[in-house]
Amino acid sequence: MQVNLVQGDITRQEVDAIVNAANSSLLGGGGVDGAIHRKGGPEILAECRALRASHYGRGLPTGQAVATTAGKLPARWVVHTVGPVYSATEDRAELLRDCYRNALRVAGELGARTVAFPLISSGIFGWPIDDAVRQALAVLDSAETTVEQATLVLFDAATYQSALSVRGAPA
Ligand code: ADP
Repeated sequence: MQVNLVQGDITRQEVDAIVNAANSSLLGGGGVDGAIHRKGGPEILAECRALRASHYGRGLPTGQAVATTAGKLPARWVVHTVGPVYSATEDRAELLRDCYRNALRVAGELGARTVAFPLISSGIFGWPIDDAVRQALAVLDSAETTVEQATLVLFDAATYQSALSVRGAPA
């Protein structure tokens, strides 16, 4: 799979599926989640509510992923995944990598060939940017999948520059 880094707004990506850094309620939040629901329209939230009423009565567990329509967004699907809240005392990196693995698997099962990811957990959930990039690339750069292209979308210029540095100097 080809992996690209771009600076931009994930809601504007012309790809088959975009990944949402959701919270476990699936009922909306701030950051990427807020932007996706705002621009995608009420159809996405309606499907999220239906998921809560059926398979995910207690919410979507951290690290798991589930798809809905992308409503009015250019993408066809939104794959919602719940990143871990960063902890300085507990290593939750495996859960963060699960987000990328499971979102990619769900996207592949849908038949998506192009998928855009936000930098999961690096906003409200507090994950340090450089390590968040490292965890994302650890999964994406070695993934075995039918998805042909993954784009990691970094929202601001500073985060994009950090991501380029991390990629240039792998751990
Ligand atoms: P989390 O709760 O998983 O930390 P956030 O949505 O708060 O999720 O942030 C994840 C990352 O997405 C942050 O780096 C944030 O700057 C970035 N971000 C926020 N809005 C957008 C957007 N519209 N497109 C792409 N990235 C975004």
